[in-house]
Amino acid sequence: EEAHIGVTGLGVMGRNLARNFARHGHTVAVHNRTVSRMQRMIEDFGGEGAFVPAESPRDLVAALRRPRRLVTMVNAGHATDAVIDEFAPLLEPGDMIMDGGNAHFQDTRRREAALKERGLHFVGCGISGGEEGALHGPSIMPGGSPESYEALGPLLESIAARVNGEPCCTHIGPDGAGHFVKMVHNGIEYADMQLIAESYDLLREVAGYAPARIADVFRGWNEGRLDSYLIQITAEVLAHTDAATGGPFIDVVADRAEQKGTGRWTVGTALDLGVPVSGIAEAVFARSLSGHAEPREAAAGLPGPARPELHPDDARRFTDNVEQALYASKIVAYAQGWHLIQTGSQQYGWDIDRGAVAAIWRGGCIIRARFLDEIRAAYGGGRAPVTLLTDPTFRRALDEAQNAWRHVVAQATELGVPAPGVSAALAYYDALRAGRLPAALVQGLRDYFGAHTYERTDREGSFHTLWGGDRSEESA
Ligand code: NDP
Repeated sequence: EEAHIGVTGLGVMGRNLARNFARHGHTVAVHNRTVSRMQRMIEDFGGEGAFVPAESPRDLVAALRRPRRLVTMVNAGHATDAVIDEFAPLLEPGDMIMDGGNAHFQDTRRREAALKERGLHFVGCGISGGEEGALHGPSIMPGGSPESYEALGPLLESIAARVNGEPCCTHIGPDGAGHFVKMVHNGIEYADMQLIAESYDLLREVAGYAPARIADVFRGWNEGRLDSYLIQITAEVLAHTDAATGGPFIDVVADRAEQKGTGRWTVGTALDLGVPVSGIAEAVFARSLSGHAEPREAAAGLPGPARPELHPDDARRFTDNVEQALYASKIVAYAQGWHLIQTGSQQYGWDIDRGAVAAIWRGGCIIRARFLDEIRAAYGGGRAPVTLLTDPTFRRALDEAQNAWRHVVAQATELGVPAPGVSAALAYYDALRAGRLPAALVQGLRDYFGAHTYERTDREGSFHTLWGGDRSEESA
């Protein structure tokens, strides 16, 4: 029997993706560089559906129905290039290679252009949801040509997570659009986790709550507008008891956050495109800081303020305020992420539907949340807010939250509890809504020392003041 789709790279992700296709009635040809891994997969899971084992790239290609649909799930970077170089010569015009790994979108643009020359469709596809998602329904973000989506889309939609019957999969846009959006997803995930971690820290250090109590708080928040996968698992992690010590699990975990790099990519891309994603940047830097043992040890004795114990009533009030600060900061982080998507879309001509991105992140992926319904609605009915902050729903939420939000940032500052994510979010909100920014002074200084010129508020053109001379102004 001819296979509908082929998967090469049967690691953690590829194996589960192949099983997911098979469980949905597709015949899947499977291949892995190390053949024994493929054989073991067939032994373990061959009964779940129709698999065609392929021992070589040639066998895999021969097993596929035309136009061929080949998925590669190998490590990003050199491995992906190696696999493409191996398979491309075996394929024919009209065939498709989908890369489901976490590739950088610029690599995807390069690969897409190179394969197009051979008449092959290359689909860079973001897949979120980890090992479990790959098996039970991930959120899928394919880029590439519209023709390739016609052929691949129905298969991908059949294995994606579903929310209210809608598949969490949509054609994001040409070439690197899918991997770009996946990158921003991961960046937002960094920001979300940082804001959650700061909220936990504030409840512990300011309200004085124990982890089990904070777990209850998060469980309560998960019943409301913060309802999301990350809030839910935060409650579980905080409630967990360490078997070895009998104490809270969170207290035995080393406080050095690691990163695989997609947050860094997001911030680097945002710097290149000139988009302020301070929430994601603070999250990446907070992880970096946590890993610097030497300066942390050296600074550990530096003076800070006293932390008086809060009265239980005040602690309860503070907890409510933290919920508001968390929600408002989350709105800002997502507004920044959506700004980056909008700018990338313009820069690379992708025409990304920003409401559809919110829709496919409602299920399957790590940042799935009720909140994404609101973002989708903000882009509904042909609306396209310049920034999510001015969407009526979010505007109202920010207005309602702002006193609490300011109070939390002030309290954190006064008591010396670091809250870079929540603080940066508030600073962004205040900067964006400010009538005048001190950027005017920055321009004045730049003109003074570097003759970089400035524009005026009252006339067109560029100007330079003769700072070293009579301080008259000339047109530049
Ligand atoms: P694994 O380490 O489990 O598997 C890696 C696979 O790549 C193996 O099948 C390996 O083959 C193959 N491979 C590596 N180098 C080469 C090469 N040079 N030529 C041919 N095959 C090669 O990785 P994962 O399944 O976790 O990840 C795969 C991709 O999916 C990555 O890009 C990852 O970033 C992405 N991803 C991972 C997620 C996760 O939660 N793990 C979530 C979303 C995306 P062999 O058995 O022969 O070594």
